[in-house]
Amino acid sequence: MTADRTGVVHVHSNYSHDGRDSLEQLRDFALDRGIAFIALTDHAEDFSESTWQEYVQRCGALSDSAVRLIPGLEFRFAGYRGLHLLAFGLDRWIEPRTPDEFIALAGSASRCTAVAHPILADYALPPSVRNGIDAIEVWNATYNTRYLPDPRALRLLHDIRLVRPRVVGLAGLDQHDRRNDRQTRVVLRDQAIDPVESLREGRFVNVGRTMRFDSGNGMGGIRLALLSAVRWAFDRVERAQDSVARALRSRRGAD
Ligand SMILES: [Zn+2]
Ligand SMILES: [Zn+2]
Repeated sequence: MTADRTGVVHVHSNYSHDGRDSLEQLRDFALDRGIAFIALTDHAEDFSESTWQEYVQRCGALSDSAVRLIPGLEFRFAGYRGLHLLAFGLDRWIEPRTPDEFIALAGSASRCTAVAHPILADYALPPSVRNGIDAIEVWNATYNTRYLPDPRALRLLHDIRLVRPRVVGLAGLDQHDRRNDRQTRVVLRDQAIDPVESLREGRFVNVGRTMRFDSGNGMGGIRLALLSAVRWAFDRVERAQDSVARALRSRRGAD
C-alpha cells in the first residue's frame, strides 16, 4: 500500500483568486483519491498576514492521520515575468519582494522551495534562485501536459544538478479545481513524519498517467531525447482533446 505515502504538490484553494475549492473540499478530494497530503501553494498576493494566520490554523484543524493539508504559498515578483516560486510547508508569514529576498526568507521559513512551471519564465533563473532553490517543477500538469513532463525543465534540472546535485525534480498539479485532477502524484519512499522534508531530500518518485521517474537524475539522455520527440505529439493530442471538451461544454451551455 502506498496510499499513505502519496501526495500532491502545487495545489490552490479558494484562498487564491483563481482557485475554486475550499480547504474542506480539498480534504474530501484527497480522501476520495487516496492522497495522504496536499502541499498547498496559494497565491501570496491574495493574502494578508491575518488571512495567512487563519489559513494555517484552518489547515491544521482539517489535518489528521488520514489527510494533511500543508500550508504554502506561490510568489511572483515585479519585473520577473513568469517566475513563480513555491514555498512548501511555510511556517511563518513572509513578504519577499524579489527572488533574492525569497531565497533568503523562504530558505529558512519553508521546508522546501521550488521553481514552478519554468516554461513561463522561459527557463531563465536569476543566479540567487539557481544557487538557492531546493526543487524544480519538471512536470507542471497544467502548463505542460497532463501526459508527460517537460523535457526542457528536465534539462534545466540536469544542468543545475551538475553544480548542486541535491536539487530535485517535482511533478506538480497546479490544480485550481478539484474536478480537473490531472493525476500527477509524488510518492514518498518511506513513511515520513514530515512529507515536505522528504520532498526536499529527494526521498520520493514522481508518478503521472504515463510514467514514473525518480526525483533526481531519474531520466537518462536517451529517455530524455525520446521524451522530447513524444512530447511534440502529445501536446497536439491534448490540444485537440481540450478543444473538443470546450466545444462540448459550450454546446451544453447553449442547450
Ligand atoms: Zn504559477
Ligand atoms: Zn500555481
